[in-house]
Amino acid sequence: MARYTGPVCRLCRREGQKLFLKGTKCFTEKCPVERRAYAPGQHGAAGQRRKKASEYAHQLREKQKVKRIYGVLERPFRNLFEKAAHQPGVTGENLLVGLETRLDNVVYRMGFASTRSEARQLIRHRHVQVSGRTVDIPSFQVGPGDEVRIAPKSKDILPVQRSLESQTKPSSVSWLAVDEKTRTGRMVNRPTRADIPLAVQEQLIVELYSK
Ligand code: SF4
Repeated sequence: MARYTGPVCRLCRREGQKLFLKGTKCFTEKCPVERRAYAPGQHGAAGQRRKKASEYAHQLREKQKVKRIYGVLERPFRNLFEKAAHQPGVTGENLLVGLETRLDNVVYRMGFASTRSEARQLIRHRHVQVSGRTVDIPSFQVGPGDEVRIAPKSKDILPVQRSLESQTKPSSVSWLAVDEKTRTGRMVNRPTRADIPLAVQEQLIVELYSK
């Protein structure tokens, strides 16, 4: 399965804001976004002085930002968009809900992993079960009523313990019920846009893909 393997802090610097891709390290003063608040590369600092960005550039940056936050590459992101466009309701909101209900994001939001990337690794290494069955596909869509848990044999592995004890784990969301002791969680209901704590303008992504 293809994935981005380059330096993740570079992605934050390109978007000009913290995307919190490195867990606890993002909350230290060593965060490169704070130390070098300009885009990476030879012309990064010079680019800050360029003239106003075009409408297309805004749309593109918003799409890249969302892809990078969830760690999804272009092809699966586009597929998710196509699916969202065919569902009833607002396409941009459907897209975000589709991203939020991916298994890797659910494991992260439950606090069993300190980043979505770490959650993906737990899933690929078969440490995660959905409704009693091992699922090793990070893009698996979790539905209302599904129970997500860390496999009993993996309950006390270091990444899970470390994440649950972390002061910087994501704050709990109302659509997920979590029992940290048993390393189990359940999706209470499908999230709506209001339940997704993400400051993005998803409409810009819809406009970009609709050109
Ligand atoms: Fe982004 Fe975290 Fe790296 Fe800061 S430390 S640039 S927030 S990944």
